[in-house]
Amino acid sequence: MPKTYDTIIIGAGIAGATIAYTLIKKNQKVLVLDKNGIASGGSGAAGAFVSPKIGKGSSLQTLTNEAFSFAKDFYLSTCHGYFHQTGVIRIPKDEADAQKFSEYEKYNNTKYENYSQEKLQSLGIKSAFDSFYFPDAGDCDAVGVCHFLLQEVEVVQYEVSALIKEDGLWAVGAYRAKNIVLATGFEKNLVDIRYMGIRGTWGTRGDFSTKLDLNVSMHQSMSVGANREGIIKLGATHEKTVKTPEPCSKAQALALKEKSSRLIDISDLELQEVFCGMRAGSKDYFPLVGKVIDVGYMMENYPAIVRGAKPDLKYIDHLYVLNGLGGRGFVFAPKMAKILAEYIVEEKALDKRTNPDRLFFKWCRKL
Ligand SMILES: Cc1cc2nc3c(=O)[nH]c(=O)nc-3n(C[C@H](O)[C@H](O)[C@H](O)COP(=O)(O)OP(=O)(O)OC[C@H]3O[C@@H](n4cnc5c(N)ncnc54)[C@H](O)[C@@H]3O)c2cc1C
Repeated sequence: MPKTYDTIIIGAGIAGATIAYTLIKKNQKVLVLDKNGIASGGSGAAGAFVSPKIGKGSSLQTLTNEAFSFAKDFYLSTCHGYFHQTGVIRIPKDEADAQKFSEYEKYNNTKYENYSQEKLQSLGIKSAFDSFYFPDAGDCDAVGVCHFLLQEVEVVQYEVSALIKEDGLWAVGAYRAKNIVLATGFEKNLVDIRYMGIRGTWGTRGDFSTKLDLNVSMHQSMSVGANREGIIKLGATHEKTVKTPEPCSKAQALALKEKSSRLIDISDLELQEVFCGMRAGSKDYFPLVGKVIDVGYMMENYPAIVRGAKPDLKYIDHLYVLNGLGGRGFVFAPKMAKILAEYIVEEKALDKRTNPDRLFFKWCRKL
């Protein structure tokens, strides 16, 4: 007999782990499937810094900072052992950037302090510019958090190759469920979701042993973690030329070490381990949280949508997505999981800012 669940989640990264955790708390029967196991995609590679976004008050900054406040409370209350509130310093990269920081200041709507160059030097940080310090920010143990959130959830290593419905239920191998949540990161081959514009950006993290006295994390084009138990993490995800996952590169990790010499003393840093992976972003950099439009049906029944018609949308029943978390998966995931779980279980409204519907008609007009 097939085993039946309320919801099958495909993908056991931070998106899959947070939605599974949130649905379980709402008494849903949940199964998580991942082809390579827990945190085997981008989430396992992440430095997993959880810090606010700076800028001039864009709607993406507002959303990110709502998600940041939610995330740090979520990690502190659910798995504080895996969240290290070291504080994160945002350092301008050059003179022009430093000018922008003074404009950004009035939009810093999370707790912060100004750190002078002298203060930075006293902390062992080289910088010619004054910076923002966010004391509530920090970083997660990426793999540890995903395992923790999934500890009460059934997780099976299984590669889903097709989405099929049988007698009104989703049928995935020997499993059946009313709902499916796609939390597959940059992989998007199970259903036509081209309109969401999901694309991968490659990143590398190097963990280095050191005796450096560094108690705070920082970000300046790359992330540098505080020293914890003799290890600091260096990470960045800006590599757009890598299209499919490849073996992790020691050279890329060592390049991060060289780059970090602008910020810290790297003289005793020894590379211990290299991590790498894809992070998945959406077309407009906002997360993707909601239902999946039946693209084939819409195209066949409303050919005028490519010329600007906007008929009512038809969705694939009981199919949901939680994706597009970009370079801030650990910031966005808890709040996005709450939105999706409340939609699935309690039929609360989705957030328009993250509802993937926003991208559909624009995509149709470009076909
Ligand atoms: C080097 C690096 C550093 C980063 N640093 C930070 C940071 O400091 N702070 C931050 O917040 N974010 C950071 N990120 C981004 C963060 O890692 C991503 O936003 C996050 O991983 C997105 O999680 P996800 O669950 O959506 O995707 P993923 O973690 O990629 O998970 C998707 C999962 O789906 C599985 N899957 C896909 N297709 C199938 C299928 N057909 N069947 C079964 N399983 C399937 C995969 O195996 C994978 O495990 C970083 C990323 C990288 C790569």
